[in-house]
Amino acid sequence: MKPPPFDYARPRSLDEALATLAAHGADARPLAGGQSLIPLLSLRLARPSLLVDLSFIPGLASVQAENGTTVLGAMVRQRALERDAQVAQRLPVLAEATRLVGHPPIRNRGTVGGSLAHADPSAEYPALALALDAELVVRSASGERVIPARDFFVDLFTTALAPGELLTAVRIPVPPPGTGWSIQEIARRHGDFALAGATVLLRKASDGTCQHAAIALFGVATRPLRASAAEQALAGRPLTSEAIREAASLAAGWIDEPLSDVHGSAAYRRRMAEVVARRALEEASRRAGA
Ligand SMILES: Cc1cc2nc3c(=O)[nH]c(=O)nc-3n(C[C@H](O)[C@H](O)[C@H](O)COP(=O)(O)OP(=O)(O)OC[C@H]3O[C@@H](n4cnc5c(N)ncnc54)[C@H](O)[C@@H]3O)c2cc1C
Repeated sequence: MKPPPFDYARPRSLDEALATLAAHGADARPLAGGQSLIPLLSLRLARPSLLVDLSFIPGLASVQAENGTTVLGAMVRQRALERDAQVAQRLPVLAEATRLVGHPPIRNRGTVGGSLAHADPSAEYPALALALDAELVVRSASGERVIPARDFFVDLFTTALAPGELLTAVRIPVPPPGTGWSIQEIARRHGDFALAGATVLLRKASDGTCQHAAIALFGVATRPLRASAAEQALAGRPLTSEAIREAASLAAGWIDEPLSDVHGSAAYRRRMAEVVARRALEEASRRAGA
């Protein structure tokens, strides 16, 4: 199918893009890598009258280290992230997650900001942003605000972004040395969206007990979830197989209404959530230094 007709704007600065978006309100949509938006247009599931292409705005595609934080510009391409030496060293879980996003041609175009703003519940980056306690920097013609990831993902393909707002950057606190990490998912084929996924960050105290656990699930509900009950159950406990199995079961039980569609029933997704949570906890625990 062909997209409905639309106008196209190619701003050369962030201010110009924000002014264009402000002038057109909800009729305008930012265009990043187009890997989700263009299929939506072709299927006529979105009918914006104007696309505002972000690709020619300088300064939105950098990866920067600021004290203990890595700051990713919204227009950093997924492929660039996959190959970035700083990301590989400071945020290996992000590098690994990126290799699970679609296939190289998609990652060549797809962007960090596009994935977060699109808020597909099966996407890897939104769950990672939750697990890593990232902050999303948002600009509009009237100013800037910073939204914690836990408040950003509202519902299926729905975020806290208002019309006229652009996600400009993501600030990710770099986990301290010794943090164990993992991302695990079940998909029909490599590169497909996850039917169930989990990402975990773990730190151990010197006696081997769990000092910090962050567990985020994706592909199982209308938005990514932090499995808080499972995180709390692990706090202060030795990371034995039994503790990990219990936490994985609590994580799966934490999902209020699992997604149910042609790809998998709610019961299947809950069961697979437990499996991926257990695998991710086991791998993160092996990687965590005491
Ligand atoms: C075959 C295929 C397989 C895929 N598999 C996966 C997968 O396994 N995992 C996964 O996570 N993704 C997958 N994707 C999606 C891919 O990661 C997309 O790149 C991503 O979802 C959207 O990024 P984009 O830069 O292409 O954004 P676009 O498609 O350009 O935009 C997506 C949405 O976000 C909005 N938007 C974009 N940038 C901004 C911004 N800076 N501020 C505000 N709003 C913005 C747009 O208006 C639009 O509504 C797949 C895509 C395809 C086609």
